[in-house]
Amino acid sequence: MHSDNAAVQFMILDFLQETLRFTASPGEMGQFLARQLRELFGARAVVLLRHGADLRLEPPEILAIEPERLRSARLMEGLGRIVELHGEARAALLLAKASSDPRVRALMESLGLGSISLAPLRVGGLRVGTLLALDHLELQRMDDVTRLLDLLSPVFALILRDTAHFAAQEAKVLAQAEEYRALLQANLDGYLVVDETGRILEANQAYLDMSGYVPEEIRALRIQDLEALESPEEAAEHFREMRRLGSQRFTSAHRRKDGAVYPTETSAIFVHGRNVAVAFIRDLTERVAAEAALQASEAHHRELVEILGEGVALSDPADTFLEANPEADRIFGLPRHGLAGRSLMAFLDAPERKRVADYTGRRLEGRTDSYQVQIRRPDGSRRTLQVTATPRRDAQGQVTGSLAVFRDATDELKAQDAARLAQKMESLGNLAGGLAHDMNNVLGAILGLATTHVELQPEGSALRGALEVITKACLRGRNMVKGLLDFARKDVTGERPVPLNDLVRGEARLLERTIPGNIRLELELDPAAGTILGDPDALGLVLMNLCVNAMDAMPEGGSLRLATARLDGGQVLLSVADTGAGMPREVLERAVEPFFTTKSHGKGTGLGLSLAYNTVKAHKGQLEIRSSPGQGTTIELRFPYLGAESAHAAPEPAGAAGPAGARVILLVDDDELIQSAVAAQLEVMGHRTVLAERGEAAMALVDDGLRPDLVLLDMNMPGWGGERTLPKLRAALPGVPVVLSTGRADQRTLDLARAHPGVCILAKPCSFNELKALLGRLLER
Ligand code: ADP
Ligand code: MG
Repeated sequence: MHSDNAAVQFMILDFLQETLRFTASPGEMGQFLARQLRELFGARAVVLLRHGADLRLEPPEILAIEPERLRSARLMEGLGRIVELHGEARAALLLAKASSDPRVRALMESLGLGSISLAPLRVGGLRVGTLLALDHLELQRMDDVTRLLDLLSPVFALILRDTAHFAAQEAKVLAQAEEYRALLQANLDGYLVVDETGRILEANQAYLDMSGYVPEEIRALRIQDLEALESPEEAAEHFREMRRLGSQRFTSAHRRKDGAVYPTETSAIFVHGRNVAVAFIRDLTERVAAEAALQASEAHHRELVEILGEGVALSDPADTFLEANPEADRIFGLPRHGLAGRSLMAFLDAPERKRVADYTGRRLEGRTDSYQVQIRRPDGSRRTLQVTATPRRDAQGQVTGSLAVFRDATDELKAQDAARLAQKMESLGNLAGGLAHDMNNVLGAILGLATTHVELQPEGSALRGALEVITKACLRGRNMVKGLLDFARKDVTGERPVPLNDLVRGEARLLERTIPGNIRLELELDPAAGTILGDPDALGLVLMNLCVNAMDAMPEGGSLRLATARLDGGQVLLSVADTGAGMPREVLERAVEPFFTTKSHGKGTGLGLSLAYNTVKAHKGQLEIRSSPGQGTTIELRFPYLGAESAHAAPEPAGAAGPAGARVILLVDDDELIQSAVAAQLEVMGHRTVLAERGEAAMALVDDGLRPDLVLLDMNMPGWGGERTLPKLRAALPGVPVVLSTGRADQRTLDLARAHPGVCILAKPCSFNELKALLGRLLER
C-alpha cells in the first residue's frame, strides 16, 4: 500500500466526509461504512460486531456485514470464538491461517479463511464491539488493512455507542450514580469531594450539619479552610500522599463556621479518573468526651484504691499477682510495686498452700469466700491476713482470676486472744479465791488447835508427834492456799513506790544462795529504770516464780539474765531471760493458764506464770513471753513508770513479842471452827475470850458495858460485817486495839485499817505463835 499511499489517504478523507454527512440509524450507517471499507480494502468481507465486555453476559451480534449474503449462523459462531480468544486485545491484530495458535488455525480452516484483521472497539475504556476484515488468501496487504482498522476503530465505536443498547447501558449507570449520590447524602458520616487545589466540590447533609455551613458557602471554601490542625502545605502534602497510596485513614480536627474546633476521623480514597479525593468524615466530639469521662472515672477509682486502708490485688488463676495497691505492698512487707508479678504461694508455708489452693479452686468455680491466711514476709515475720476474694470474669463470663481485698489482722487477733485469756483468768481467779477462802477457815481451825495442844504435850509423846505432823501438813496447805489467793488477787495491796532495781537486787541476793553452780546469774540494770507503784512482796513473788521456772528449764546449766530498762512511752521493762529448753508452740499458748504444767507431779503446780500474769495485770502492766524450742525463754514485764528512784525508808518488821498478862479479848467471828480454835488458843495464852457471832451482837455487848482489852474482828460476816462494825467499835472504844482478821488482805481491808487508828490486819489462817506475837505486841502498849 506504500505505493498508493496518497490514494488511501484520499479515500479515508472521503470516507470520513461521508460519515459526517450520514444521519441515518446506527445499523444503516454501520452497513454503509462496512461496504465502503470492503471496497477500500478489496477484502472478501467486512463485519461489524456488537457485544459487551463480558461475552458470556452479552454475546456478539452482527450489526453490519458486507456483503450481506455471507451472514450465517456458522460464520457468527466462528467469529464469536475468534473474538472470545482475543477479548483482551488493545489494538488491531492480524490473524493468519499459519497462526501459531492451533485453535485459531482450526477455526480459520473451518470457516475457509486465509486471514482475519481484527480491531477492538472501545468507548471510554469499555469494550463494546469488534470490527473484522476477512479474506480467502493470506494477503500481504492485510497488514496495512489492520493498521487502517486501528485508525478507523474510534469511528465505528461511536456508531455502536449511539445504538439503543448502549443508551440503555448509560442510563443504568447514571441511575446507579444517582443511587450512590442519595446514599452519600443520607450517610451519617460527613462526605466531601475535594479536588487537587483543595476546592470542595461536593458535601453531604451530614457534613453541613456538623460544620454549620450551607451548600453555597461550602462550595466557596477549600479543605484548608475546614481543616484545623494541618497547615495548607501539610494538607497539599496529604493530598499527594493520598494520590500515591490510593486511600488513607487518619484523625484530625475540623473548624466549624462559628470557629469552634471539633475532633474528626477521616477515611479518604483517591479517584484517579476524576483526580479528586473523596473523604468520609466522622465527628468524634462525643466519642472523645466519652473516652475522657471514662478515663476520669477510671482515674478516680484508681485513686480510691490507692489510698484505701485495705490491700487490694488482682491475680491470675494461678495466684500470681497482676496488680496491687500500696497498702497490699505494705501488708506483704514489700516496697511499692513489689507484689505485682509475684506468686502468693511464695509467701505461704506448706500447710497454708494446700488450704489457699482449695479456695482458689472454689473461686474458679465462681465462688466468693472470706478466710484467713498466714503469710511469711520477706523479713521472716508472720502475719495473719483476713481475706475476701471474689472471681473476676471476662465479657463472656469466663473466670479470668481473682480480686482480693485484705487487711492485716495480726494485731487484732492477738488482742482478741489476750482478751479471751484475761476473761479466763478472771473467772478462774474468782473460783480459786472463793475456794481458798473457805479452805483457810478449815486450815485455821486445825492449825490453831494443833499448835495450841502441841505445847501442852510432853516432848517425845506420840500425841505431840501426831500434832506436829498435823501442824506441818497445815502449814504446807496454807502455802498452797496462799498461792491460790495470790493468784486470785485482783488488786495490789500496800501500794507504794518500788524501786525496780532494788527489787531485782533483792531477788538476786536470795537466788545466790540457792542457784545451782552451772547456772550463771547476770544482772543488767538500767539506772534510769526508776520506781513503779506496787506491792514489793507480790512483785518479789512474781520474780521468784519466773526465776524458778528459768532454773527448771536449764537442768544442764546456762545463764539467767535479769534486766531492767526504761522504755519510751512511760513504761519500764523488767525481763527474765534464760538459755534453757524453751517452749514448743502448744506449751507457749497455754503457759499462763492456772494449773497448766509440764512438770512432774509434786514439782509443778502450774500457778507460777498465772500468778505472774495476774500480779502484773493488777499493776496495770503487761506480760509477754517469747520462747521457742532450743532458743531459751524471755519473759518481759512492762509497768507504768512512776518516777526516779529516791531515798526511801523500808518499814522495819515489828519486833518480837513480849510477855502478856491475862486480858479480855472480844472475838467477833461467825465461823464456828474459828471460834473454837481461836478461843482455845487464847485460853492457852491465858486470856479470857468473849464471843460475838456478828458485829451487831458485839456492839450490843459493848453497849451493855463490856470493855475488852482487844477486839478480834472478822471481815466477812453476815449482817454488818467487819466493814460497818469497825467504825462503831472505834467510836465506842477509842483506845482499844482492833485486829481485822481476813483471808484476803485486799485493798478494801487495807483502806479500812488505814482509816482508823489502832487497827491492824491479821491474815488467816495463822499459827499459834503468830497470833501470840501479834497480841503480845498490841497488848503491851
Ligand atoms: P509450773 O512451773 O508449776 O509448771 P508455771 O505456770 O510456772 O507452772 O509454768 C507453766 C509451764 O510453762 C511450765 O510447766 C513449763 O512447761 C512452761 N515454762 C514456764 N517458764 C518456762 C521457762 N522459763 N522455760 C521453759 N518453759 C517454761
Ligand atoms: Mg513455775
